[in-house]
Amino acid sequence: MNKCKRLILLGLIFGIGAIFFAPLRANAEPLRDAPIYIVQSGDTLVAIAARFNTTVAILKKLNNLVNDDLIQVGQKLILPATEISSAATNAIAYIVQPGDTLQRIALRYGTTLRALQQLNDLPNPNLLTPGFAIAIPRAPALVKPGLQIDALDARQGGTTVIKIARPELTTVTGILNGRPLKFTRAGGYAFALLGASRCAKIGALPLTIVTSDARGQAATENVTINITTTAYLVNAITLPPAGVSILQDSALIKRESDELVSIINKVSPTRLWRGAFRQPVYTAITENFGTRRSYNGGPVGACGHEGTDFSMKLGDPVFAAARGRVVFSALTQVRGNLVVIDHGLGVFTGYYHLSALTVQAGQMTNPGDVIGKAGSTGLSTGPHLHWSMWINGEYVDPMEWTRRVIP
Ligand SMILES: [Zn+2]
Repeated sequence: MNKCKRLILLGLIFGIGAIFFAPLRANAEPLRDAPIYIVQSGDTLVAIAARFNTTVAILKKLNNLVNDDLIQVGQKLILPATEISSAATNAIAYIVQPGDTLQRIALRYGTTLRALQQLNDLPNPNLLTPGFAIAIPRAPALVKPGLQIDALDARQGGTTVIKIARPELTTVTGILNGRPLKFTRAGGYAFALLGASRCAKIGALPLTIVTSDARGQAATENVTINITTTAYLVNAITLPPAGVSILQDSALIKRESDELVSIINKVSPTRLWRGAFRQPVYTAITENFGTRRSYNGGPVGACGHEGTDFSMKLGDPVFAAARGRVVFSALTQVRGNLVVIDHGLGVFTGYYHLSALTVQAGQMTNPGDVIGKAGSTGLSTGPHLHWSMWINGEYVDPMEWTRRVIP
């Protein structure tokens, strides 16, 4: 039994288990299918309320919380169902009914026993208490038998998983908007990741999936994925003259970006990550992914912020978000001291503006390993951590990967 499971079990024995499965008020019906947020290290009720455009009072009422301080990492909080909370979370609440088994719930919601156990840290799947809430992953759209796509509406800056669960197939390939889409086998299915650019053109993307089975029988399926708008904010940024001169040096910006593109386009064939990503740090977010910028009163850029910024003190440690191999660790002019980690299958994370680098290219990292110290090197107005993520060459919102397990 690993340490984490042992702690949970001890928690259950001593009654602390209620933290994980907080009982809900008797009038549970309106809470069915409510979005659920899983508390991350460093979260406060105030921050969660602000993020999901609600209030602490509403969160306390929905979750029967008596004390502001009583939230724990891993705890599932029910959120009011709004457009924001529904789009940003990927689990819904289900109130266990008398006679329910985890298997039956998994079947009803088109998910698996394993997914439910993982999401709910259930030490014993046979111990379900009626009246308690468990989190259910949002059902992906079942497009055709054996073909699942997270959502046929893919958000700008979002990650979409395309899964083919047909064990009889020997090959699965895809063409998305004229470009090859690579599928990877995992257990009984094959999956591909679609990273939509934060400034992707709105509209339909044709996806063609070509499969063949052991008898050489080929089949082609056509699906349309719609790219939908994400309403990114606009932020006015003031830079010192030195920063402006870097911004105006488009040749330099292009050179550095080309160098980065050559790094993140080298797709390694093995998936190195497992489960949800952790945040590199758990401090306040100072600028979200995709926020569009105007520097020193200039025009608003067409393509927004290429990552998520966290407030940091100079020299504070920065941690790897998931298992992977360091493929770049050096000083750059725009992004400062930069670490790039390859997680396999075209998934990369980048950590910018570090004051010190504590890993070298070629080194393996595990989630939570220190990779450097926070700083303000490169094009930066003060100590902060910028965290980027790439899926098959496109910047995507890295925070989505901390909120759900992909694939
Ligand atoms: Zn940034």
